[in-house]
Amino acid sequence: MAAPTTTETSGKVVIRNVGLMLSGDIDRPILDADTVVVNDGVIVAVGKERDCDTGNARRVIDARGTALAPGLIDSHCHPVFGDWTPRQNQLGWIDSCLHGGVTTMISAGEVHLPGRPKDVVGLKALAITAQRAFEGQRAAGVGGGVKVLAGAPVIEKGMREEDFAELAAAGVKLLGEVGLGSVKAGDEARAMVAWARKYGIQSTIHTGGPSIPGSGLIDADVVLEADADVIGHINGGHTALPYPQVCRLCEQSGRAIEIVHNGNERIGILTARHAMELKCPHRVILGTDAPAGSGVQPLGILRLIALVSSLADIPAEIAFCFATGNTARQRGLRQGLIEVGRPADFVFMDKAQHSAGEDLLDSVRLGDIPGVGMVMIDGIVRCQRSRNTPPATEVPAIVA
Ligand SMILES: [Zn+2]
Repeated sequence: MAAPTTTETSGKVVIRNVGLMLSGDIDRPILDADTVVVNDGVIVAVGKERDCDTGNARRVIDARGTALAPGLIDSHCHPVFGDWTPRQNQLGWIDSCLHGGVTTMISAGEVHLPGRPKDVVGLKALAITAQRAFEGQRAAGVGGGVKVLAGAPVIEKGMREEDFAELAAAGVKLLGEVGLGSVKAGDEARAMVAWARKYGIQSTIHTGGPSIPGSGLIDADVVLEADADVIGHINGGHTALPYPQVCRLCEQSGRAIEIVHNGNERIGILTARHAMELKCPHRVILGTDAPAGSGVQPLGILRLIALVSSLADIPAEIAFCFATGNTARQRGLRQGLIEVGRPADFVFMDKAQHSAGEDLLDSVRLGDIPGVGMVMIDGIVRCQRSRNTPPATEVPAIVA
């Protein structure tokens, strides 16, 4: 279908006949509801159809008994510009991730830009440019309209407090992975993370061994001392810390625990299980860490949900929260929850055809990835049956 620009608004949209409503809220992951009403991109009602005002809708979607979840959030990716990545020289990777149910991506640094500037003036200019460019490309419908939150500078030695104030004033809200630049010592990182926090800029730290030639080791002592908001790829990107160090991070820090697809899968599974045992599953968030040496995985978030659910024995409805409501709360985003007042970013799913599972949640628990039948961003249909997932057993229909 033609790519709509986001300058248009959705008007009133009614989604009815939802078979399973996944809220994204880990404290209440399944809602007793079959209908969602949206007005101009914002959820205005969630409930039973008989209790909702469904009249005079511009668009009506019959979910045909499929599951509705908040659009998935990739907490850790590395965009550069446009829908292109120089890392594997690939075009259209963001649109491909839309077909994997992802509606929001969070940059952990535009690190793959060839010739990326490392001087302070240059890195600030790049961050501001990337923030503007991704805002602008979304409005133009590039990348399927996925919300790419970018402009995440990689901090370097010599930055001062006023640099963070300047970045914040210019609209920068994220730091790229701390540790990918020249700032690798705990005390130095801690001072800069604190300056960033003071001006409302959220931080993520690289955890584990070097990811590609040129990056370095960040161990548990540095992660704890730096105290960034997100323990980025706690399972390594790819090389993980020894598991006892990972446990220390879960136990001694209260920050977000980010598990990524392009990490060590064994440590990812053990970490998810450990977070459940520590009774802090609300801290767990998921990312792909793509594009990377391992490439781009359009289904990376769905694969990770199936992986932690099936191998860490975590109920599938909880695993979906790791990639939606948890990320929203840990990162202060509006999207990621099916709740009145939230942006209408949704993924419609059903169990994949011929999955051994009885229903969607059972299929994920058995390790199968779901079939995506439709993706909406701000109440606008961005794709119908996914070109990337295995075919969903049932897909929603646009009836008006
Ligand atoms: Zn990293």
